[in-house]
Amino acid sequence: MIKIPTQVKTVLDKLEQAGHEAFMIGGCIRDSIMGIEPKDYDVTTSARPDETKAVFQGYPVIETGMKHGTVTVVIDEMPIEITTYRVDGNYADNRHPQKVRFTTSLQEDAARRDFTINAIAYNPRVGIVDYFGGLEDIEAGVIRCVGEPAKRFEEDALRIMRALRFSSVSGFKIEEKTAEAAVDCRGLLRKISVERIREELVKLLCGKDAQRILLEYTEILGVVLPELLEMRGFQQQNPHHIYDVLKHTAVAVSNVPPEADLRLGALFHDIGKPRCFSVDDEGIGHFYGHGKISGEMARDILNRLKFDNVTKDRVITLVIAHDAVIEDTEKSVKRALNRLSPAMFFKLIALKRADNVAQNPKYSYRQSYYDRLESMAKEIIEKEECFSLKDLAVRGGDLLEMGIPPGKTIGQVLEKLLEAVIAGEVANEKEELLKKVIAFSKS
Ligand code: ATP
Ligand code: MG
Repeated sequence: MIKIPTQVKTVLDKLEQAGHEAFMIGGCIRDSIMGIEPKDYDVTTSARPDETKAVFQGYPVIETGMKHGTVTVVIDEMPIEITTYRVDGNYADNRHPQKVRFTTSLQEDAARRDFTINAIAYNPRVGIVDYFGGLEDIEAGVIRCVGEPAKRFEEDALRIMRALRFSSVSGFKIEEKTAEAAVDCRGLLRKISVERIREELVKLLCGKDAQRILLEYTEILGVVLPELLEMRGFQQQNPHHIYDVLKHTAVAVSNVPPEADLRLGALFHDIGKPRCFSVDDEGIGHFYGHGKISGEMARDILNRLKFDNVTKDRVITLVIAHDAVIEDTEKSVKRALNRLSPAMFFKLIALKRADNVAQNPKYSYRQSYYDRLESMAKEIIEKEECFSLKDLAVRGGDLLEMGIPPGKTIGQVLEKLLEAVIAGEVANEKEELLKKVIAFSKS
């Protein structure tokens, strides 16, 4: 039932031949049992790091973390992390063990691991070694700490985010005591580096159960994103909506494809709503300018979590644009394709669809409007129609040749030409465009 790549088999065999114990453990076993192709393979062994290195003489060996007992061996281009059985010492800062102690006991090594489903070991000679009931928990779909949950979260608070992430990705429920402890210990998340939190948050958002996690564990996520707490229970008082801002958001998140920028865009698209709420004379709630305010808040959060610039730009663009109307005319679609780029255009439509799905179903007829925008955009792209400067039949050089001075003017003239082409005022042909330039200069 557990497939072993030949490279991993080689690692296990060589360690055993040298007189050591060696097992596959962690994510690769968990995923194999669940029928998911493992992303990478971790091996745990009784061999000390220097002994492991000796066994793999002649292979590329990277000293990934000698202090923690980890070396990476590369066999036929596959990197395999090999870690010595260890017990983690006292945790200094709710994240890093002060020192680790190597051990010869697989059971002790399994005991330091976070969740039962991550503590199952396997090698083909011995079979499955499951000290903490991980198999049963996979069967039942449960995330449960190895050992006493509060203690494990106090040792390393990142495990709180990992619990939420595994639950979101696998759809498993977090066992009651583990969940209670996670909520109780949530404040410790403040001590965890934003990079680690960010990584878990993105995986969590891309999980199939992101909606449930956002709603069930708002309190925990509120430590990282206090803005979510403002959204919870915030009634919209508007016929377009049947959910409060948080539920609307959670449903939207789950209804965009699991790509980081889109899921983040959905998470933040209405985050500014509680800050720009007004009620009109009829008692209807409005959120004027919420796209812009949400965009500003998204920027703050993305900076706080040290997201890369590409993700930041994309997410902010999606948030700001989510509520702006794109008309179903050729001109309007071309302008949007130019403004956003085709890839971002399609992401924005995906967000608009999800936003609509999360509203009052009375308005679900709007999905056909998004169908139309998408098919129009696809056709424009397929027919290679002109919607951006790079499609234009003249270049800056052509304008220079006409005697237009180098500098800002060139760009402005090109933009005007593009606009004229998109508006259907002139064909995208060099001669016609150059005539148009002369007409501009006379007007
Ligand atoms: P994936 O690689 O799919 O994200 P994984 O379970 O393999 O999930 P890794 O971060 O690769 O996660 O860690 C490998 C193994 O190391 C885990 O399965 C678990 O046994 C152990 N582990 C990782 N992080 C922790 C932690 N913070 N506390 C305790 N054990 C951990
Ligand atoms: Mg892994």
